[in-house]
Parts: sequence; structure tokens; C-alpha cells
Amino acid sequence: MRTVIYPGSFDPFTNGHLDIVHRAAKLFDHVIVAVAKNEGKGPLFSLDERLALVRDSIKGQANVTADTFDGLLVDYVEQRGGQAVIRGLRAVSDFEFEFQLALMNRKLNERVETIFMMPKDTYTFLSSRIVKEIARLGGDVSSFVPARVVNALREKIASQPKNP
Ligand code: ADP
Repeated sequence: MRTVIYPGSFDPFTNGHLDIVHRAAKLFDHVIVAVAKNEGKGPLFSLDERLALVRDSIKGQANVTADTFDGLLVDYVEQRGGQAVIRGLRAVSDFEFEFQLALMNRKLNERVETIFMMPKDTYTFLSSRIVKEIARLGGDVSSFVPARVVNALREKIASQPKNP
């Protein structure tokens, strides 16, 4: 049984993330989308909200599940019996940080491999950060995120106090 972990903040989950999940699901027996607690990053959505949005977005894919984790990724991978970690690469600008992260994870645990996957080219400009920015400014994000995320963004932004 080949299990891969796809970790991230997923604040919120986008069509770019979903594209990577589809690709990984063809290569592995089981893909676990692991939502990192990452409170330090000051996420817009709570951990439970992010998990619920991921779960909704991966519905119908039999070999994909979602979970949350806190602490060291390599420890979580071992705990779930995973062999590898998937990370998405959109552009050369992602490379430096991802390379550093992958080598550090290897130092921490040699058994865990990191696999990089490229999304469909139309998603290379997409990030959770940019989606939040567009939504905050009242733009249409329906082609960038799953339908459930469009509504969640609308509700979350409407519930936030406006800056003077
Ligand atoms: P993190 O905070 O860990 O970077 P993100 O939720 O931003 O988490 O991203 C999780 C993973 O998905 C990262 O490897 C990131 O590079 C990748 N990713 C994010 N957006 C896209 C996209 N549009 N296409 C492909 N991969 C993406």
C-alpha cells in the first residue's frame, strides 16, 4: 500500500490544490491531504473550517482522505504509514523554499521522500493568498476555487469587521 501525504495550510483549498490531488491519486493507493494547524500564519479560516472545505472538495475520490496535523511533518508521515510527501511547484519562485524544506525533511527522516508535482498550466498563477485578496476586494473567484469555498469566502469576509 503506497500512501502519500499532501501537506499545506489550505487557507483555503483551491482548484490548484485539487489538480495536484487528482494527479497524486493516480500514482498512489492512498492520498492524505493534511491540513497544517499553522496558527502562526494567522489563517483566515480555522483549522476545522479548512478541513471541512478540503473534505467537501475531495468528495467522491475513493482513495483520497483529509486530516489535520500539528508538529513535525515527517513525524506525521511516519505515524500515518506514508512513504512520501507531495508538494506543488508553480514557478521557479517556489523552488528555493521547497528545495530547502525537502532537504530539511530528509535530514530529519531519510525514509520520507518528497515528490514535486506541477499543476495544469492554468493554475500556475493561483495561490490561496491571491484568492483571498480578490475575494476581499469583491472579485469573482468562482473559477479558482471549488463552489463550497466560494460561499465560505463570501461568508467569512462579510463577517469580518471592515477596515476604516
Ligand atoms: P503552505 O502554507 O504549506 O505553502 P499552501 O496551502 O499554500 O501551503 O500550499 C500547499 C502546497 O500546494 C504547496 O506545496 C504549494 O506549493 C502547493 N500549491 C499551492 N497552490 C498551488 C497551485 N495553484 N498549483 C499547484 N500547487 C499549488
